[in-house]
Amino acid sequence: MRTPLVMGNWKLNGTKESINALLEGLAPAAAAATGVEVAVCPPAIFLGQVESLVKDGAIEFGAQNCDLNTAGAFTGETSAVTVKEFGAKYSLVGHSERRTLHNETDEVVAAKFKVIQENGLVPVLCIGETLEEREADKTASVVETQLKAVIDAHGVASLSNSVIAYEPVWAIGTGKVASKEQAQEVHAHIRQWLAAQDAEVAQKVQILYGGSVGAATAADLFAQADIDGGLVGGASLKVEDFSAIIAAA
Ligand code: 13P
Repeated sequence: MRTPLVMGNWKLNGTKESINALLEGLAPAAAAATGVEVAVCPPAIFLGQVESLVKDGAIEFGAQNCDLNTAGAFTGETSAVTVKEFGAKYSLVGHSERRTLHNETDEVVAAKFKVIQENGLVPVLCIGETLEEREADKTASVVETQLKAVIDAHGVASLSNSVIAYEPVWAIGTGKVASKEQAQEVHAHIRQWLAAQDAEVAQKVQILYGGSVGAATAADLFAQADIDGGLVGGASLKVEDFSAIIAAA
């Protein structure tokens, strides 16, 4: 069936030294995790360093964001072509921090999804509702709208070569992890909603949970039928915690 994927999103953290130590520390857990994919998304400036440190293939890596454009007068941006050249497999797209802090709309996210995919990377499409939306019972419609933006632009088949990360905004960086029941309910909904459009894509696509995943909560979350792993922020910066999360998958 679907291979579990445990991905660390390091956000804007790390030094040359800390990244060396982190990757060295994670190597045993990654090597021991047979049948589990492990990946990290460092800040773009560290992609070359990560490439040189993960040569054995037990840890894959990705970018946290790519620009809509792949070359030209776009000061400060990162090109999907370059990310691929550095050996990355993935790029996150539509993380809530990008949507909120960088005004990335569903349309921009859909366009970036395509650029990432066209350049040989696997997009990890991040979706999820705010607390206000959850309390107004809008969770299902929010995630559907976010998925629909990509499907309307590129077709449902485009999702077969992607990963979906369900990250409820209220759970990100707050220590308030969704319960396994809350997370499974949304994951199952996403899969059923996709199945109504393409059963094969729905069965195939990995749906990760993200939002305050920790060593103590990972196993219960990952045991749910529609949760295929995690997108881990804070805990992925600590060798002991991230190793335990990898082992739980
Ligand atoms: P935390 O695990 O720190 O809540 O972050 C989740 C996240 O945003 C991963 O992309």
